[in-house]
Amino acid sequence: MVPDYNTLLLAIGLAGFCLSATLFASWLSAKIERFLLSWSIGIGCIVPAVVIYSVYIEHASVIVGCVAFLLQFLGFSFIYGAAYRFRTGESGRRRIAGVFFACAAMSLPWLVSGYDGLAFIALNLLITACVVATACEYWRGRAEAPLPLTGIVILYLLTALSFLLCAGVLILDGKWVMGHAPDNWAENLNLIVAIMGISGIGAMSLALNQWRVAGNHHRAAMTDALTGLLNRRALFDRYEAQAVTPHMAAIAFDLDNFKSVNDRHGHAAGDVVLKVFADVLRDVCGDAACIARLGGEEFIVVLDRTVPDRAQRIAERIRMDLAAKFIPVGRRSITCTVSAGIAFGREDGVSFDSLLSSADKALYTAKRAGRNRVSLAA
Ligand code: GH3
Ligand code: MG
Ligand code: MG
Repeated sequence: MVPDYNTLLLAIGLAGFCLSATLFASWLSAKIERFLLSWSIGIGCIVPAVVIYSVYIEHASVIVGCVAFLLQFLGFSFIYGAAYRFRTGESGRRRIAGVFFACAAMSLPWLVSGYDGLAFIALNLLITACVVATACEYWRGRAEAPLPLTGIVILYLLTALSFLLCAGVLILDGKWVMGHAPDNWAENLNLIVAIMGISGIGAMSLALNQWRVAGNHHRAAMTDALTGLLNRRALFDRYEAQAVTPHMAAIAFDLDNFKSVNDRHGHAAGDVVLKVFADVLRDVCGDAACIARLGGEEFIVVLDRTVPDRAQRIAERIRMDLAAKFIPVGRRSITCTVSAGIAFGREDGVSFDSLLSSADKALYTAKRAGRNRVSLAA
């Protein structure tokens, strides 16, 4: 049994309302990702659009038609805006407004001037374009969570196809003035696809939200909060399992007399020095190394493929760059130095742990030799 048109409309209205309300409530309570809020507003506009459209089916009045069109355009503009926000993190307010007004300008004049057939063709084509643009945004951002995002893209494309079919059937009919709402197989199919789309996309968007939350927690657990560098745990996660060969080097850094910086200028000044040193590490190493703060004023740079000369040049450059920095603390500026120890892996492979302790031994040789210098492990 194929459900009749009004039953399908009712199903869309209910599915949309429940999802929109669920997302809105979760946003209020847990402040979920804002793209989901835009999405729930979009669906929230489509629900009354559906209700008003069912009135239009009974009495094809121009005003009722215009309101139904506008609400649909508003809904799909917000849905597009949600996708844009998901990918870029920007609110996309201007885009939403642009899409909405462009859609209204390209279809309402037909409806108002009595060419309702043309107006419905324009409506379906414009919504197809909005939905394809939405799918494109998710496709461009798919690297974040390939599986749910590809699923979402497919659902949007199916939805777009069903709107395109509606336009196609109306174009083939060739009735530019109809005097009633379109009534053909493509319209029914469109509603069925829309029900699948709303519930499927809603479920996957919630999964996506969880994915992002989990990703943020994971990143936070792996990052040193003060400097934004990797922390000890992240460093060991990355290297612990592998045997270290001679192409790999670790440079251990320890700020010199750092306790006296804290004692003389305060803990906050010490924090500023730590951040400045982290910036020096980033500036010198760029993407060529893995940089981590092990704790306190101890840092590690791991070079995956290097030779002794290069490792030593990098360590020296870092040491000199820090020594040359005037670090503003309060009304004056201070200078600070760092000592470093470099160790390499072996042909037979050593553990990451022993690479670090060799670098540490070299570091303390540098300390004993007077600080502000780089020492190479034996
Ligand atoms: P050395 O040249 O031998 O390394 O001397 P040092 O004073 O740097 O060494 P020590 O290990 O005695 O002091 C390290 C200090 O680092 C002690 C601790 O108060 C400080 N410290 C550790 N973590 C932080 C932090 O997050 N912020 C600040 N401001 N200080 C920290
Ligand atoms: Mg120390
Ligand atoms: Mg120190």
